[in-house]
Amino acid sequence: MKVTQHLNEAKGTLFSFEILPPLKGKSIQSIFDGIDPLMEFKPRFVNVTYHREEYIYKERENGLLEKIAIRKRPGTVGICAAIMNKYHVDAVPHLICGGFSKEETENALIDLQFLGIDNVLALRGDSIKTESTFRPHNEGHRYAVELIKQIGEMNLGNYMVEDIKMEPTDFCIGAAGYPEKHFEAMNMSTDLQYLKDKVDAGAEYIVTQMFFDNQKYFDFVDQCRAIGIQVPIIPGLKPVKTMDHITFLPKFFKIDYPEALSKELLKCKDSKQVEQLGIEWGIQQSKELKEAGVPCIHYYTMSNSSQVKAIAKEVF
Ligand code: FAD
Repeated sequence: MKVTQHLNEAKGTLFSFEILPPLKGKSIQSIFDGIDPLMEFKPRFVNVTYHREEYIYKERENGLLEKIAIRKRPGTVGICAAIMNKYHVDAVPHLICGGFSKEETENALIDLQFLGIDNVLALRGDSIKTESTFRPHNEGHRYAVELIKQIGEMNLGNYMVEDIKMEPTDFCIGAAGYPEKHFEAMNMSTDLQYLKDKVDAGAEYIVTQMFFDNQKYFDFVDQCRAIGIQVPIIPGLKPVKTMDHITFLPKFFKIDYPEALSKELLKCKDSKQVEQLGIEWGIQQSKELKEAGVPCIHYYTMSNSSQVKAIAKEVF
């Protein structure tokens, strides 16, 4: 079932979460171990992230270095199929522009359709770790809006091969939004305009980047509505968990901690205290969002469900 159908039929705020594929070599059981504790909160859909290739340098016998592309977390589509098969819950694969030609994208979408997957979160993807800026595939997409347009065309039966009559797909397309602005955007207003372009191209709902200050989400929703973005905007939450997160999350995701949270984080002496604070902050944030009537709260588990479970117990 489509995410939008779940949202339309919901009687209150829904619970959903995102998981990462395990590192190559780990079994599917590691995924189930992360999902099992959260099933009691009846997630209507589970997102599975996509991780593109990274480059490593391997020393050859002659002493020269060889550049090799590896994917450390493969398996997004297989995991989605396994989740749907085991839990009978909709899985939402993330599909990115980076590393894909348009034809590879088309083929990936055909696989998803054959597997009975109705939803896709369409993203540009980040740059490769060793590259400072995002570089699209020569025959691929530069921005998420182009990927959304391609999926929209397939939903109309327009594939890349023009002279063959094709079966239309029927994907529900989600897109990413940034309450604190995407880090590459010139300013909030251009970022919002590009977000509107994604919606106009066919994105039916938006999932936000994590944020720790609900006011930023509420302001973002107001700004979206003011420029005519009418689709549901699902807030994404990530509980802060370790001492490292105190600097890593703002650095990597380009988000700020509100002063009230940073003051408390500075008092923490170890990761255990940070983890407890993350739960308390997450409960407070979730309760306020739920009271405000958000359609769904989407939690970034980053493959660790214990904090999200503790939060969900108090909220759902
Ligand atoms: P876009 O919408 O293409 O925007 C990228 C930048 O370009 C923005 O600054 C935007 O303002 C600008 N822009 C957009 N259109 C145009 C245009 N036509 N002309 C000029 N500028 C433009 N990454 C992964 O690799 N795998 C994942 O699984 C993944 N999951 C995510 C899930 C969520 C909910 C979120 C919020 C992010 C996720 N990301 C993931 C990260 C995401 O790929 C990065 O944030 C990426 O840098 C931008 O993706 P986007 O889809 O928002 O890009």
